[in-house]
Amino acid sequence: MKSYEEAKKSADLKIERLELCIRNIKKNYTYDFKCPSCHEIKKRTVFTAKIGKGRKYCSDACRAFGYRKRHGIGKKHGIVESTPQQLSEKRKNQLKRRKKIIKMRESGRTFNEIAKKLNVSRQYVHQLFTKAKEIEKGAKNEQRKNLD
Ligand SMILES: [Zn+2]
Repeated sequence: MKSYEEAKKSADLKIERLELCIRNIKKNYTYDFKCPSCHEIKKRTVFTAKIGKGRKYCSDACRAFGYRKRHGIGKKHGIVESTPQQLSEKRKNQLKRRKKIIKMRESGRTFNEIAKKLNVSRQYVHQLFTKAKEIEKGAKNEQRKNLD
């Protein structure tokens, strides 16, 4: 003989298992999503894809990039032409170059010499140098602020 409690318990257990199964389906069913900004193909779950209007880009950086592209913002500075990935690469290279310039300056070289070595104009070297100095100063001020 099966009691009410026993039957109820096994029914609840079954429901619990099914709920887990549904949760897994929602999590595990993915499709390949191609981001229109960075053109990378990423996995996205089917069940969260169309929430709201649905996400059109893979990340906030790509969304911002898409917005700038649509509205033609930042064209002058070459931001639109590069994807966020390229942009961060550019920034890294610029940082490297700035560090190099500071080192060369500290070793007593003139802007002209540095420019020839890096194969850029003297004005550009000067620009990068003053920018690097400004950033250094800013960092120091920030430290001072934190101490106060
Ligand atoms: Zn993207």
